[in-house]
Amino acid sequence: MKQLIPAFQKDQALLADIEAARLQPGHLHVWWLGQSGFLLQWEGRHLLFDPYLSDSLTRKYAGTDKPHVRMSERVVAPERLTMIDLVTSSHNHTDHLDAETLQPLFAAGPTAQFIIPEANRAFVTERLRCDPAFPLGLNDGQTVSVAGFTVHGVPAAHNALERDEQGRCRFMGFVVQAGPWSVYHSGDTLWYDGMEDVLKPFAVDIAFLPINGNKPERRVAGNLNPEEAARLGRVIGAGLVIPHHYHLFEFNTEDPEHFVREAGRQGTPYRVLRPGERWSGRKDSGRTLENGPPIAEY
Ligand SMILES: [Zn+2]
Repeated sequence: MKQLIPAFQKDQALLADIEAARLQPGHLHVWWLGQSGFLLQWEGRHLLFDPYLSDSLTRKYAGTDKPHVRMSERVVAPERLTMIDLVTSSHNHTDHLDAETLQPLFAAGPTAQFIIPEANRAFVTERLRCDPAFPLGLNDGQTVSVAGFTVHGVPAAHNALERDEQGRCRFMGFVVQAGPWSVYHSGDTLWYDGMEDVLKPFAVDIAFLPINGNKPERRVAGNLNPEEAARLGRVIGAGLVIPHHYHLFEFNTEDPEHFVREAGRQGTPYRVLRPGERWSGRKDSGRTLENGPPIAEY
């Protein structure tokens, strides 16, 4: 068995870092939890985007022609994240809507709220076996404020801008405003026509963009590739792009160095995080970003 890519920090060390970050008020704190999972901490409140913190897909596809071989260490068990105020799921694929992550997470933190695309309500409540009234459903163009976070729904194309019979998006991204910060979590998406015009008005400070690309021969829905992620970040004027959706499964990954090269070539500000690693920033005036400690270079 191949060695797993080690987490930057995990388990108790990660939880201690999340706790310690509270002592830096005025900073936005971001942790990458692997795949599309990110934790935001703002003024002591916690928002979790698209967590996948189990091995459900590896077990499900073991022995099939599409094995989901894990590449990197899991950073924390979901039931240990008891501080979460708000969770999002961008779409119904298991790496973004995992019952083995979300059920223990909501059991351990029963006050956490849950934002999903409204189009997915029946599917989500069936998969999680939760009260159909529990999730907060959003469509594109809609906004909800929860626990100090204001969340705007934007479309995602995975691979198409798919809508249900009532015209509601099945794949979404979310732009979250936390104090002065504007943070874009793309979900899984290609670059659709007009995407940059949807995003520019939000003056995105931090964009979490997938980089694993579109590989139809692998029979998986596609994402931005490294060049597109770097270019989209530049075109929307993002203050920082943090890449995601790689180093989880061997069959569907990308070398983050390809993104680093493209971002450098295009002049896109970026930061590559390792699983469990924190980025902290402070916004003093306008869109100035000032990195706070402790950050290791990748
Ligand atoms: Zn995905």
